[in-house]
Amino acid sequence: MLRFAPSPTGDMHIGNLRVALFNYIVSKQRNEDLIIRIEDTDKERNIEGKDKEILDILDLFGITYSQLIYQSANLRFHSAMALQLLHDKKAFSCFCSPEWLEKKREEAKEAKKAYRYDDACENLPAELVIDNMNPFTIRIKKPDATIIIKDHIKGEVSFEPAEVDSFIIMRQDKTPTYNFACAVDDMLADISIIIRGEDHMSNTPKQDHIRASLNYDKKIEYAHLPIILNDSGKKMSKRDDASSVKWLLEEGFLPEAISNYLILIGNKPPKEIFQMSEAIEWFNINNISKSPVRFDMDMLRHINREHLKGLDNKELSRYLGFADEEIGALAKVYLEEAQTTKELREKIQPIFAPKIIPVEFEEQANLMRNCIQNAPYFDSYEEFKNHIMQETALKGKNFFKPLRLLLTGAEHGPDVAEIYQYLKNYLGEIVK
Ligand code: GLU
Repeated sequence: MLRFAPSPTGDMHIGNLRVALFNYIVSKQRNEDLIIRIEDTDKERNIEGKDKEILDILDLFGITYSQLIYQSANLRFHSAMALQLLHDKKAFSCFCSPEWLEKKREEAKEAKKAYRYDDACENLPAELVIDNMNPFTIRIKKPDATIIIKDHIKGEVSFEPAEVDSFIIMRQDKTPTYNFACAVDDMLADISIIIRGEDHMSNTPKQDHIRASLNYDKKIEYAHLPIILNDSGKKMSKRDDASSVKWLLEEGFLPEAISNYLILIGNKPPKEIFQMSEAIEWFNINNISKSPVRFDMDMLRHINREHLKGLDNKELSRYLGFADEEIGALAKVYLEEAQTTKELREKIQPIFAPKIIPVEFEEQANLMRNCIQNAPYFDSYEEFKNHIMQETALKGKNFFKPLRLLLTGAEHGPDVAEIYQYLKNYLGEIVK
């Protein structure tokens, strides 16, 4: 079983989508189920409606799953497992107040040392624990040996007991911390491999230690994906528009192109342009580079154009808000100068919109409009052109400029001779 575990705390980032795609692909390759776990236990950070948005995006990208779980539904298991650890003396109640711990943290900072819990509450006499009415957290006892994590991307990474520390698993309000809820849920779901962002690497020994303390001896595999950097070499954040999947979709990038790009970067694919179904054939998680990858907008635009070329005309037409096949074919001509559906729409819509004609061509355009409206249907551009030329007695620039303006609403663009075949059935509507 694999899982994608988004937090409903913000817009879906391309890094999250990359994680979701890789989980999906590996689940298909291994013939295992993929579950979605919405990690909603941090009530203060949850944003209403974000879960729905994330699920809609997964849907759009063809990432199907066998089950949807909300982490908050597992709270009783988290409490039960924490009690189990207390009972087994693998965890202890900690009465240190948040203020006290903050003071200790400050002291460590001033001494330029990494903060570690001093285990003050670990060995409290039983009578001090049982009748104690003060609020308490539950801490798991730190491991007594080095924890070695084998990662498909990072290789072997080891963590000393002090780094793992005796950390909090249940807060004073009896809610589980992220590491505890996550470790327990992965265990309950019988997860075989965890694929997630490398920002979680430092959580991994903690989660491994939690499961070992609960006597779960199945070894979960890991793959921590490197972060995606922006143009200036910094981690892509909310401030970078392109980090938001929603933004990319609004800008007119196709889901299949975004997927293609996110599978391509930091990888060794056999080809540049592909569909997800093909990636399932050759994808190898071990081939993912361990160094960060830089987001390259030009590359994404190039890939998007290639996917737009590959759409059938009717489908492309629908993306642009039309129904007819001809408009899709026409849009493909405009792919010379446009790379997203938004840019294509900006080219195609003016063709059907009322035209703004510069004063110097107004007279010629009016004459020509009249003539086109009354002309018979011509299958060939040559015949159409000859007819209009003859009827209007216009030539050269005085003919071609107003003709292009009337037919396309733009001063420049593809050869009118080339696009006439897609426009000829709509001439009345175009020049109205
Ligand atoms: N909820 C975590 C996040 O969105 C993911 C945790 C995980 O994959 O283990 O970053």
